[in-house]
Amino acid sequence: MRVLIVEDERKISDFIKRGLKEDGYSVDAAYDGKEGHLLATTGEYDLVVLDIMLPKIDGISLCRKLREEKIVTPIIMLTAKDSVKDKVKGLDSGADDYLIKPFAFEEFLARIRALLRKRDSNAVTKMQISDLVLDLMTHKVTRSGQEIELTTKEYALLEYLMRNAGSVVTRTMISEHVWDVNFDTYTNVIDVYINYLRNKIDRDHKNRLIHTLRGRGYVLKE
Ligand code: CA
Repeated sequence: MRVLIVEDERKISDFIKRGLKEDGYSVDAAYDGKEGHLLATTGEYDLVVLDIMLPKIDGISLCRKLREEKIVTPIIMLTAKDSVKDKVKGLDSGADDYLIKPFAFEEFLARIRALLRKRDSNAVTKMQISDLVLDLMTHKVTRSGQEIELTTKEYALLEYLMRNAGSVVTRTMISEHVWDVNFDTYTNVIDVYINYLRNKIDRDHKNRLIHTLRGRGYVLKE
């Protein structure tokens, strides 16, 4: 899951970034509305966290602009102002949810999960390839009914592979979605993590699910 934070206050941005990363999200940050617009329209994000008071382009205008440009990524708005008028304005501009600063991080995470669930419109909570099952709610992974313990990063990588099951995912795609942008120089890290996953998921099984396509990337399939 890849999140974009558009917030000019570094302290708040860093706090959100850290918390989301700990929860397994991949996070990019923009510090003004213009930069936010550029990233939101060029990167593939699963969610945008958008502050209202921003330099260059304010959050409300940016949200409206993105919706006009047919960017449908869920947007959660942040503001210091606890006013009904702002809330209405935010939602009218096309935001999906609204949170007033300061907020409890647990609530923030719960709101994000709710938005992501809503986005997966047919409410997929489990993904399955062959006998490998990943539960998006509990983050539990099993193969042949046997639970597999994964680290946060391994889980994020597997979830990404499963969401794209049957299609080739390149190292660049993986680095952008599971790690952060500008990661290309460390792509061997991805190979290392793929090996960790292989050891946990495929090693004891005859039918291998993670396949390497030389020079292209990886594909998860039966
Ligand atoms: Ca701000």
